[in-house]
Amino acid sequence: MKALRDRILKDGKCYPGGILKVDKFINHQMDPNLMKQICVEFIRRYASTEINKIITIEASGIAPAIMMGFLLDLPVVFAKKKKPSTMTNMLSTTVFSFTKQREYHVVISKEYLGKGDKVLFVDDFLAYGNAAKGVIDLCKQAGAELVGMGFIIEKAFQHGRDAIEKAGVRCESLAIIESLDNCEIKMKED
Ligand code: 5GP
Repeated sequence: MKALRDRILKDGKCYPGGILKVDKFINHQMDPNLMKQICVEFIRRYASTEINKIITIEASGIAPAIMMGFLLDLPVVFAKKKKPSTMTNMLSTTVFSFTKQREYHVVISKEYLGKGDKVLFVDDFLAYGNAAKGVIDLCKQAGAELVGMGFIIEKAFQHGRDAIEKAGVRCESLAIIESLDNCEIKMKED
């Protein structure tokens, strides 16, 4: 998606350890107009897929997810990183965060993910695919069908896509970073 690639080149900042900061338009300050264009592109790519729910993980996935839900008129569920004391009937999995270098639990109420659901997962970044693997596990536990995953930015050099495709799940990313070596952003053309 050219508008997104151009914005990453203009406002993205590269950090050691293969981290890209997009705080100017996605992760801190947000650009709703670009987010709408991003979601319209996800919707175009998944146009022939039946979806009844959008899911994501808090916090950075919520913005694209709510925009998707709004445009498709579908409910949006976000998996929580802390178990609320009031939540009893839930599904749980463990995810390793490479940006925070620690494991955390992700929970989702059985009330909002179950058999018969056809869910599309959206998130800001695909890196090593740990969050994606957690979501694949939650959907499996729930008996829900994960019809696809959509990432705004994929860091291809961290190979998260492999686990998703191995699980037989469709994966779409709108900007694919091939390398951040020497803090230079190299992206794949469409
Ligand atoms: P994964 O689970 O695929 O290894 O990492 C995905 C999650 O880690 C994303 O939801 C995102 O929040 C965070 N993440 C991974 N790499 C980056 C990065 O380069 N920049 C930012 N801002 N977040 C990242």
